Amino acid sequence: MIFGENVDKVRRRLGRLLAREHPADADIVISIPDSANTAALGFSEESGIRFEIGLIRNHYVGRSFIVPDQKIRDLDVKVKFNPVKGVIRDKRVVLVDDSIVRGTTSKKLVQMVRNAGAKEIHFRVSAPPIISPCFFGIDMPTRQELIANRLSVEQIRQYLKVESLGYLSVKGMVGMPSLPDEDFCVGCFTGNYPLAIDENLDKLRLE
Ligand code: SF4
Repeated sequence: MIFGENVDKVRRRLGRLLAREHPADADIVISIPDSANTAALGFSEESGIRFEIGLIRNHYVGRSFIVPDQKIRDLDVKVKFNPVKGVIRDKRVVLVDDSIVRGTTSKKLVQMVRNAGAKEIHFRVSAPPIISPCFFGIDMPTRQELIANRLSVEQIRQYLKVESLGYLSVKGMVGMPSLPDEDFCVGCFTGNYPLAIDENLDKLRLE
């Protein structure tokens, strides 16, 4: 529970809203497990497109975006996820994730789903583009490393090599929980922070 809201229910509503904001003509909805599972279920419910388990996550491997070296991160994706070819082959797939940070992991996952035989991939993100770092404690890459800081949504679509790409709007995301807008920080999505920030502190480096 956060602010009296059930996180699972909010995520599901975000997925429903995502389906309304960015519908897709597709055969199945699959999530990038585990954090996008509930949003993908919400997308499925709202769109009427069947939810399937198309990617299996290996829980014995850690989170890839905090691994410091890009080469290790690339390897990480391959050992962390397994595509279910029997589910994906010859299907038009809606692939739901809860964020795109650098974009490198998303690109590898798209390639994995494509190699498993997907006919089309429609990438949907249950949060807005992350254009600015977090200064309040979330371990994030630097501003230059954030793909949405450098590229437009169309350029990210081309980089990922997907048929379509849709992010949830800031208005949609903030409008979901039943609390006033001013109670939320949306700094990494808008660049407007609720407190004064020091740009030099956008990454805590312990050296
Ligand atoms: S919403 Fe605010 S606190 Fe949360 S990760 Fe983004 S900048 Fe950090």
